[in-house]
Parts: sequence; structure tokens; C-alpha cells
Amino acid sequence: MARSTRRRAALADYNAKRDFDRTPEPAGDAQSDRPGGGRMFVVQRHRARRLHYDLRLEVDGVLASWAVPKGPTLDPGKRHLAVHVEDHPMEYADFEGVIPSGEYGGGDVIVWDRGTWEPSATDDPAAAIAAGELHFDLHGEKLSGRFALVRRDRDGGGREQWLLVHKNDDSAEKGWDPEHHPTSVKSGRTNDEVAAAPAALWRSDLPPGEAEVAVSATEVPRWEGPTPEELAALDALGREGRWHLQGTRLSLTNLDKVLVPGRGDEPPLTKRDLVRYHACVAPAMLPYLVDRAVNMHRFPNGIDRPGFWHKEVPPRAPSWLRTWRNPDADEGEAENYIVPDSVPALAWLANYGAVELHPWTSRIDRPGEPTWALFDIDPGERTSFEDVVLLTRLHRTALDHLGVTGCPKVSGQRGIQVWVPVRPGYSFTETRAWVEKVSRSIGASVPDLVSWAWRRDERAGLTRLDYTQNAVNKTLVAPHGVRPRPGGPVSVPIRWDELDDPGLRPDGWTVRTVLDRLADVGDPLAPLIGMAQDLPAL
Ligand code: MN
Repeated sequence: MARSTRRRAALADYNAKRDFDRTPEPAGDAQSDRPGGGRMFVVQRHRARRLHYDLRLEVDGVLASWAVPKGPTLDPGKRHLAVHVEDHPMEYADFEGVIPSGEYGGGDVIVWDRGTWEPSATDDPAAAIAAGELHFDLHGEKLSGRFALVRRDRDGGGREQWLLVHKNDDSAEKGWDPEHHPTSVKSGRTNDEVAAAPAALWRSDLPPGEAEVAVSATEVPRWEGPTPEELAALDALGREGRWHLQGTRLSLTNLDKVLVPGRGDEPPLTKRDLVRYHACVAPAMLPYLVDRAVNMHRFPNGIDRPGFWHKEVPPRAPSWLRTWRNPDADEGEAENYIVPDSVPALAWLANYGAVELHPWTSRIDRPGEPTWALFDIDPGERTSFEDVVLLTRLHRTALDHLGVTGCPKVSGQRGIQVWVPVRPGYSFTETRAWVEKVSRSIGASVPDLVSWAWRRDERAGLTRLDYTQNAVNKTLVAPHGVRPRPGGPVSVPIRWDELDDPGLRPDGWTVRTVLDRLADVGDPLAPLIGMAQDLPAL
């Protein structure tokens, strides 16, 4: 019992960073002693805001933890900073996957090394840690031999700074660098590979026994962008011609026609530019389109002329385009839809003048069941972007309180949306009712900012929290999709903490800049695709 009390106390900091109010289960209550009796250790390579390695040693049923920016090394000549961080629950030891952005420690994690350990010269490692000096032997797949952790100082945030060193013993190896050994001992994968296709998410806001959430077994396919040679061939075409892209022959027309005027001093975007963008962004965009009908907002003569919504597959569409017939189409409604499933399909849509793409929130195999619940913060004429950001923060608070994971996305125009993944089986009636309830409680806290009027001219310039987007064949612009505005602004998923960036703009990223952003910071919404999330009763 004493041990269990100590364990509860040890996890207090971990739990304090998380909110278990809404769950009755005691936090951190899993197994402690393993058969065989050895104490386990794990080192997780964790790319959060900064790369670090988390060294975790089992002590009294929890994982005593140090964050080591340069990682542990076998080189006895190296003394690496190790910041003592809060104990973690044992359940975390085997975790490899993605911690959603905005949650504590958001980023990707691999099990970089693991094995057993034993303290040296003490049988009470907790006391040795409290005294600021622990000597220990590791028996891992990468790390072995005698290490020492010695407390030195506190940093500005009051956290204890320790040094981690390897003794000069038989396991020591001069020049040994952890970054030369980048793969997981659990899966053989790198952080990049895990981030691209995580097997699990860690919901640090849930009790440890429930926090690891498997990512949907329906594997999302992956796509490669065009090669430099393919892009050079596109640039070399005249105003029209055949483009060979990934084994598909595309007939492209009017490639030099301006579709989108520039913003400020920027040159305008031609159809060639849009074809190129769609081909290059396809690996990031197709996961949101595959297996879904898409509604096209077409501007074949450029966005200076009126565009129109186009849903029906055109008669002369190439036979390789995937299509779907909606069995529930009403009389007079579009019946056959394009289902983009390849890089050439996206390039074809650009050539067709489909500047803006809106995928259905349900998949074609279950058109009545949304996989996303959508919050659409739709600003009025009197709404400033600061107001939109404030409203988005209120959405985050509400979702946190409910224990629901979502991700904001700037619209590319003036607003922000929040996308919430849901498990299969909900109807649109259910997601709409849930979103409406949450929206109304948010709106009630800021009545000066929000109007519930249906008609725009009755909203007095206020924001509408538009829960009615949660209906079959109602759609929002695709993540990474272009908006028909000068400069070609793009709708981009962002991390919650980017709301604090004073430079954030709803239309700040464009066709010209979004690929660099994707290369730099990736897509914070991507790990939520296929997440089977329950919407809690309200
Ligand atoms: Mn960490």
C-alpha cells in the first residue's frame, strides 16, 4: 500500500498537466511489477517543439523521467544535459505514435531503446534521485553499461538540470552518437515514418489506461508527388499539350491563361501554376479526398469572372477518373461525382478550372455517416480577425473540457474552422445536434460577437457559428485547398498554439508558400484522419 501511495503522489505532476475531471477512473493505475522482477527502462525519441530523448527508468511503479536534448550516448567523454521532468505512468513506456498538436508534448514519439536496468550502490533509487545522484546499469538494445545522473542546477523554469554521463567501462564507445541510430527498437521505423503513418495516438488528457488510441485500421494510402522531371516537362509545354504524370497522359489546355490575379506585387497565377500546385500538394491533400465525392467550384475563365458549383461528372471526363453514383440523389440533383484518388486526378481537376475543391464529410461507402464534425466560425462584416481567434480559443477550451480532439484550420478567406474526427456510425443529425449544442454554449459566453440569424443581412455584421455545415452534401473547402481570391490563398490546418502567433492571418498562406510550410511543420490535422472518436453526451 505504501508503494501505491508513493506512486499516486509521484504521478501527481503528470495528472496535474492533464484533466481527468470528466472520467471516474483513477488515473495511472496499471500494472507495476513485471514477471522476472527486472526494472524496465525506455528511451523515447520525441519530436515536440524541440527534439529530445526521454530517458525513463521504472522506479516504484512509475517512470522517473529526464528529457535529454542531445540524447544518451555511450561516449564517456560527453556530458549531456538531462532535464528532470515529471514521472510518467508505466502505460506510456511502450507508446510509439503521435501526440496530437496542442496537447502536452504534442509531436511524434518512437521507442528508441528499451530493456532493463538496475541501480548501482543503492537499493533505494527513489532516495538516490531525491538526493540528486543515481548510478545505474542499462541493458538495452542500443544502450548498455554504467551511467550516472547527477543533479546540477535549476533552469529558469525551476526545473532540475542534471548531467547524464556514461562511465568509461567495457560498453563505452568514443564518438558514439544517438542520431546515428535513428530507428525504433519497437517497429524499426524512424520518427518521420511514424509521423507519416502513426499506429496510435496518445491522448494525454485521458487516464493512462485509456490514453493510447489506435489509429483506424483502414490504412490511408500514400502518394508521391511529381518528380522534378515531370515538373520540368509541365513547364516545357506550350499553351497546351500532353503531360505524362505517373503513368497517366493528361491533355492540358490554356496553360498560360490567368486564373487568379496576384495579390499586391505578386505575378498572377496561371492554369499551369494551379496544375502544378495541385500535383505537388496532392500527397498532403488526397488523404482528405480519397473515397469521398468532391464538389467543384469552377472558374474556367478565371476568378475575375463569376464561378459556379459543379458536381456532376462531365460527359467527357477521362475514363481513368474514379467516379461514384449517389444512390440517394434527389430528382434533379447531381447523381455522379468525381472521387479524386490520384495525383493525376488532382491535376486534371485544376485543368478543368476547379479552383476550389470541397470533399464530402462522409465517405462514399457510407454517405449518411460523417467522419468529421465541423465547426465553422463564419465572420460577419464587423468581425475582426482577433474576434475570430478569440472564438477559436473558446472552441479549444470547450473541446478540452469535453475531452475531444480537434484541429483548427484557417479558411484561406476570413474565418477559421475546427475539424473534429468522429467514429463510424454517427448520422449527420447527431453530429449537427452535437456541434449546435457546443456552438450555442460558446456563443452564449460572447453574445456581443455572435448572431444566430439565418440571413446574413440580419446578422448585424456578427459572426455565425455555422453548425448547419453538418449535413449530407454540405461541404467546406478541403485542407490545403485553394480559395478563389487574389494571390491564391489556401485553407491550412494549424496547431492550436499558432493562434497565439500575432502574425497569424486567415489567408496568409498561398499557392506559392504552402508547400514550404508543409515541408517545415507538416500537417497537424493529418494524424486525426480516421481517428475513431466518440462525441461525449452533453
Ligand atoms: Mn518528451
